[in-house]
Amino acid sequence: MSDGIRSADVVIVGGGVIGLAVAWRAREKGLSVKVLEREEIGRGTSYVAAGMLAPVAEAEFGAAGKRLLELGLRSAEMWPGFAAELERASGGEVGLLRTGTLLLARDEDEARALERQLAFRQSLGLPAERLLASAAREREPGLAPTVRLAIECPEDHSVDPRLVLAALRQACENAGVEIRERAAVESVELDDAGTRVTGVILRAGERVPAGLVVLAAGAWTGQIAGLPSDAQISVRPVKGQILRLRDPAGPGLLRRVVRFQGGYLVPRADGSYVLGATVEEKGFELSPTAGGVYELLREAHELVPGIDELQIEELSVGLRPGTPDNTPAIGPGAVDGLMWATGHYRNGILLAPLTAELVVAELAGVPA
Ligand SMILES: Cc1cc2nc3c(=O)[nH]c(=O)nc-3n(C[C@H](O)[C@H](O)[C@H](O)COP(=O)(O)OP(=O)(O)OC[C@H]3O[C@@H](n4cnc5c(N)ncnc54)[C@H](O)[C@@H]3O)c2cc1C
Repeated sequence: MSDGIRSADVVIVGGGVIGLAVAWRAREKGLSVKVLEREEIGRGTSYVAAGMLAPVAEAEFGAAGKRLLELGLRSAEMWPGFAAELERASGGEVGLLRTGTLLLARDEDEARALERQLAFRQSLGLPAERLLASAAREREPGLAPTVRLAIECPEDHSVDPRLVLAALRQACENAGVEIRERAAVESVELDDAGTRVTGVILRAGERVPAGLVVLAAGAWTGQIAGLPSDAQISVRPVKGQILRLRDPAGPGLLRRVVRFQGGYLVPRADGSYVLGATVEEKGFELSPTAGGVYELLREAHELVPGIDELQIEELSVGLRPGTPDNTPAIGPGAVDGLMWATGHYRNGILLAPLTAELVVAELAGVPA
C-alpha cells in the first residue's frame, strides 16, 4: 500500500471471547486477521464470567427467549468439539466440566415456580428432569436439607472462561493472527459515499485499513463512532458482581452447577467456585458493593451452607453487553463490510463457538 501500512482482510475490534473466537476461526479459513484491543486481551467482561454453558437453565418465554434458546442449543452442542480443537491448537486446557446443572427451590413458592419452569422446558422437549429434594441431595450432599425441589438439566455444563481466553489468545498467535493491545478504536472509517467500510481510526489517530471490520467490543460497542445513526445498534452495559471462592479442603463440596433464585454456584475441578451474580442497570459504573456481596452470600448460604468455610479469593465486576431485547447482534450490518458480533448479554461464553461460525461464514462469503 502507498502509505506503507499493511492492510488486513479483517480487523476485529475487541479482544474478548467473541473477538478472539472470530479471529481464530477467520484465520483458519485463510483470512489475514488483526485484533485491536483497547486494553489487554481477554480482560473485559469475558474474564469475569462464570462460564456456564446453560441454554436449558436460561430458557425464557417469548420470541426473544425462543431465538436465544435456538442459538444457545446450537452453540452448546458445538462446545465439546470447539473445546477439543482449541486445546489442540493452543496446547492449553479450557476446563470443560460435563457435570450438568441443578435448578433449586427452597420454599413452596419457589417450588411452584420451578414446576412451571419444568413444564415449559418439557413442552419444548428440552432435557430437564424433576428431582425430589432427597434425590437432589443424594446427587449433591452439600445441599441444605431445606431444598424443596430441583430440576436437573443434565446437558448444561461449564468451562473456565479465563482458561478459554488464554487458549484462544495462544491459538490466535499460533495461527498467525496479529494482536495489538492498547489500540483503542475511535471510529469506523467509511468510503466517500458512506456505504462501505474502509478501515478503522484509532484513538491515537492512526488509520488501520481493512475491507471487513467486525465490531466485538462488548458493552462498549456503542461508543465506537463513525456509523450513520440508522446503521447503529444499541448496546447497554448491565453490571454483574461475582465472587471467586476456594475450598481449602479441596474439591467435593459440589460437583454440579447449582442455580437458585438470585444466583448460582459454579464448581471448578480444583476446588474453587464462582458465586454470581448481581444484575444491575447502573450504566458503566464498576464499583463492587457490600449489598451486592451480602445478597450473593446470603442466597447461596441458604442452599449450600458449606460455603461458609470457603476462602474469598476475588470479587469482580463485569458489564454484560445487552441489546434492547437481550439477544445478540451477529452478522452483517447496514454498511458493506461491517459485521456485528456483540450484545451477548448473559451468554457470551456459551455463544462464542456459534458466533464465530456465523460471522466467519459471512466474512468468507459462504453460508454457515
Ligand atoms: C458476572 C457475569 C457472569 C457471567 N457469566 C456468564 C456465564 O456463566 N456464561 C456465559 O455464557 N456468559 C456469561 N456472562 C456473559 C459474558 O461474560 C459476556 O456475554 C461475554 O463475555 C461478552 O464477550 P465479549 O467478547 O463481547 O466482551 P468482552 O469480554 O468485554 O470483550 C470486549 C473487548 O473489547 C474491548 N474494547 C472495548 N472498546 C474498545 C475499543 N473502542 N477499541 C478496542 N477495543 C475495545 C474491551 O476492552 C474488551 O476487551 C457473564 C457476565 C457477567 C458480567
